[in-house]
Amino acid sequence: MLDKTATDWQALAGQLKFEGRAFINGRYADALSGRTRPSINPGNGDELVEVSVCSNEDAETAINGARSAFESGAWSKMAPVDRKMVLVRWAELIEKHADQLALLETLDVGKPISDTTNVDVPATVRTIRWSGEAIDKVYDEIPPTPADTLALVQRLPLGVVAAIVPWNFPLSTTAWKLAPSLATGNSVILKPASSTPLSALFIAGLASEAGLPDGVLQVLPGPGGSLGKYLATHMDIDGLTFTGSTPVGKMLMEYSGQSNLKRTFLELGGKSPNIVFADANLEKAAAMAAAAVFYNGGQTCTAGTRLIVEEKIQDRFLEMVTENAKGWMPGDPLDPSTAMGPMIDAAQCKTVAEYVDIGHREGAELLFGGKQTLEESGGYYYEPSIFGGVSNDMRIAQEEIFGPVMSVIPFKTTEEAVQIANDSIYGLAGAVWSNNINTAHKVAESVRVGTMGINNYFGGDITVPFGGFKQSGNGRDKSIHAFHDYTELKTTWIEFS
Ligand code: NAD
Repeated sequence: MLDKTATDWQALAGQLKFEGRAFINGRYADALSGRTRPSINPGNGDELVEVSVCSNEDAETAINGARSAFESGAWSKMAPVDRKMVLVRWAELIEKHADQLALLETLDVGKPISDTTNVDVPATVRTIRWSGEAIDKVYDEIPPTPADTLALVQRLPLGVVAAIVPWNFPLSTTAWKLAPSLATGNSVILKPASSTPLSALFIAGLASEAGLPDGVLQVLPGPGGSLGKYLATHMDIDGLTFTGSTPVGKMLMEYSGQSNLKRTFLELGGKSPNIVFADANLEKAAAMAAAAVFYNGGQTCTAGTRLIVEEKIQDRFLEMVTENAKGWMPGDPLDPSTAMGPMIDAAQCKTVAEYVDIGHREGAELLFGGKQTLEESGGYYYEPSIFGGVSNDMRIAQEEIFGPVMSVIPFKTTEEAVQIANDSIYGLAGAVWSNNINTAHKVAESVRVGTMGINNYFGGDITVPFGGFKQSGNGRDKSIHAFHDYTELKTTWIEFS
């Protein structure tokens, strides 16, 4: 994998075949309207392939197919041990195509090839394999009822589930949704983000090859405002799982109430605090403070965008962070030495530039970066950027920028650090750095977020649940807990004569 050079990857990119058609009832098909839109490589602005734009008619075909597949029991009633084998085979097929898939994701999303080969593809394989392997080890319950009675408490699949995912981690968020929803026996209709549908379409074909019955997984590329809304308001969809922005998440809750009260799980935005005490391993903390916000160009829901640093080390620590920021200057995503690629599109690059202007106007001090760059490439690159002198009430400290912009906020006491960290509408993730376990644990316990690191950032794997407090959402991806999102509890009470 990483023994390849940028030239090798470019040569492979020239041979890559792209599939832009929807995947419905076990085969690739054009949208009924014939409409398409170009999929653009954000690294250079080139068109990769025309992608189907699905509409309500395509959604009807997919929903009917998914419902029939569910009712047939071909998957929903398949023994868990057999579902396991299909999911494990699917994971193996994805692994077999790892290079191709990593390249596809890099071209479609602009993620550096070192990330897609080391993170996105392996995480996808692990998620699907782990969920498959787990599903025949989950037991239902027999509660302690009186003599001559027996109660069974079973977990049954919801039915037809719609999954709507964003563009920043298309492959891994897709796997986080599909693996547990399929493992528990549901039929699933996936709507990828309009700009990044290619990896989901690719792995759908592999699922069929692995033995997933037709209709159990449908992939419909199309616009959120029409197709996404149609799915979210549909009366014959039983569950909706979503990863994306908080404003759209709020709409989906309304759509659920306006339609059939479908179970709706939301993984939303963040403005995560990264708290550094003077007694921490500052070298490691500085390297990870930069990684926490510049990884994936800051287009990460858990990005550590608020660096909350003990005042007495602020100047020295910021010099160290700035030094690390230099290693995150953007470059060609196909070059294995590139740490940060482009923003997803011109609009996102403009949004980042606007927030940098807002930071200036609010009186924060730009310490590093602050410009669009590599315009000659045709792509949408922005420098890693650091604002000092930020107070937590500024917009650059409160609003999700979704770009490589760090806001540095000083604190004097532990209580103040916690208060600043919690002064946010979001509660997705965070971290604290200290060599005093008492301080570190006290802070970790007090910060209201779904995942907190102590002396690390981005820690965690498939064995632990992931999701947000407050306006960062209400569901949990990953781990056995994700199985609960996709199942209904059913009680059967038996009386013996
Ligand atoms: P977005 O909310 O704009 O879009 C997400 C998905 O929703 C896309 O597929 C889009 O087409 C669809 N959509 C848009 N409007 C819709 C509507 N009215 N009805 C139904 N569907 C609709 O988000 P984005 O810009 O693609 O992604 C970035 C956001 O995702 C950020 O806020 C980020 O924090 C969040 N995110 C959260 C997590 C997490 O696990 N908490 C992970 C990754 C990204």
